[in-house]
Amino acid sequence: MEALAIIFVIALGLAFGSFLNVCITRLPQHQSVVLPRSRCPRCEAPIAARDNIPLLSFLLLRGRCRTCCRPISWRYPAIEFANAALWLLCWLRFGPPLRAVGMAVLAFILLGLAATDAETLKLPNVFTLPGIALGVIYSGAMCRHWLRCALLSASWAITVAGILLAISGFYWLLRRREGIGIGDAKLLALIAAWLGPAQVVLIFIFGVVATAVCGLGVIIYRRRFEATLPLPFGAFLCAASLFAMFYGQPILDWYLSFYR
Ligand SMILES: [Zn+2]
Repeated sequence: MEALAIIFVIALGLAFGSFLNVCITRLPQHQSVVLPRSRCPRCEAPIAARDNIPLLSFLLLRGRCRTCCRPISWRYPAIEFANAALWLLCWLRFGPPLRAVGMAVLAFILLGLAATDAETLKLPNVFTLPGIALGVIYSGAMCRHWLRCALLSASWAITVAGILLAISGFYWLLRRREGIGIGDAKLLALIAAWLGPAQVVLIFIFGVVATAVCGLGVIIYRRRFEATLPLPFGAFLCAASLFAMFYGQPILDWYLSFYR
């Protein structure tokens, strides 16, 4: 029974990973995720159902379009695999009911935002705004005092967004360029709505460190310093959030144990 449940979660994770690829490609361009059917982005040939099986089709076609033989982006199998792996982890870690489903939804949104930011340096509202609303609903649904918890979740989201916009505005006054984008502020509001303010602080620190290390790596690799290296800070925040979903609370408990 347990094995059957695991196979079901993996299959569902792969199918939704495949759908997430469509969302990542189309939503930022304000296109429908339902119609038209999936097409090869290079030759525009419609993709047959047999060539649209998550992971398997990519392997069978050896990563090439059946019609034009040009390579398919490795982002497609990577997102399918990552979503299935994260959904399985959510199931194993958080157990079958509401919490596992909620965390799976959060993982889905964060994965979509990470990939979109990595590709386009944008965190579209079509992901962040429904994500914030779902976080408020989730916080309410997880709590006996549902209204109080939902309102608390919403107020944390607003507070975090407000603080970041204030920092961003101050930075703009000083340097006349954007430091933390409005998209990043909305992403951190989303994380606050889902995971609470303590996790946001942890995730922000992880995100900044990861971005700095990566920036340093790029500078060393290119042997050239660039003050305005375009790095997807949002993608690093998403990666940090996915890590914190599973390990954030133990780290916070460990840190707070020094103050007791
Ligand atoms: Zn093609």
